[in-house]
Amino acid sequence: MADTVFGKIVRGEIPAQKVWDDELCIAIRDINPKAPTHILVIPRDPIETVDDVPEEKKSLLGHLTWVATELARREGLAKEGYRLVWNCRANAGQDVPHIHLHLLGGRRMSWPPG
Ligand code: AMP
Repeated sequence: MADTVFGKIVRGEIPAQKVWDDELCIAIRDINPKAPTHILVIPRDPIETVDDVPEEKKSLLGHLTWVATELARREGLAKEGYRLVWNCRANAGQDVPHIHLHLLGGRRMSWPPG
């Protein structure tokens, strides 16, 4: 599998504004934020898309989701609300083939997404 910018960030080879770090994942502030708060929760395991998560790793998805909700509480987003997004492949506009959960908050968001 090709290395990605997120693989390099996970290994500490390029800098990022890290807001979480544990044995399974990190979370960083998005370099091009689409909302006042935009955080990416990135597993250390470089799985390409959320469609590629095998059954034996399904608990990783629960962990990443819980980290995002904990960060939302810490960022003061929980009361007003926020959005969690997985982009999967081309139709969703996934640019980086290393799974990452978007946490977006701090403004009113439209639904459905464009
Ligand atoms: P996606 O389109 O779902 O693959 O999202 C990729 C996200 O990664 C975009 O929101 C980018 O702004 C963000 N991004 C790309 N490079 C970096 C970086 N070096 N540090 C932080 N965020 C990044």
